[in-house]
Amino acid sequence: MARRKPCAVCGKWFRPDPRVGERQRTCGRPECRRAWHLRSCRKWHQANPDYDRHTRLQRRLVKEEPAGPRGRPPDPFASIDWDFARKRMGLETSVLVEETGKVLFRAARDAIPA
Ligand SMILES: [Zn+2]
Repeated sequence: MARRKPCAVCGKWFRPDPRVGERQRTCGRPECRRAWHLRSCRKWHQANPDYDRHTRLQRRLVKEEPAGPRGRPPDPFASIDWDFARKRMGLETSVLVEETGKVLFRAARDAIPA
C-alpha cells in the first residue's frame, strides 16, 4: 500500500490510490484535481509557447477542402488561404511555398502510373 503524502495543492495528508501510487499528487478532491490540472497545463504551455500560435495559424491557413469539378479530384492548393499566407509571411516566401508545393504535387502525380 502506498504511503501517505501531502496534497500538492491543499497540503492535507492523503493515501494515494494503489492504482496511481507515487504518481498521485493531490488528495483527490475535485477542487485540488482541477487546480493541479490548471497548474500542469500552465507549465506545459510555458514550456511549449509556440503550440497555440502554431495551431491558430494552421486553422486560419487551411480552409475546408473545396469539391473539385465533376469527375476530377479537388485542387489541393484551393484549401490554403493564400491571401492570408501572403499577409503573414510576405509575398516572396508565400510564392516560394506555393510554387514548391505545385512542383511536388506535379512530381507526385506524374509518378503515379495512369
Ligand atoms: Zn488537496
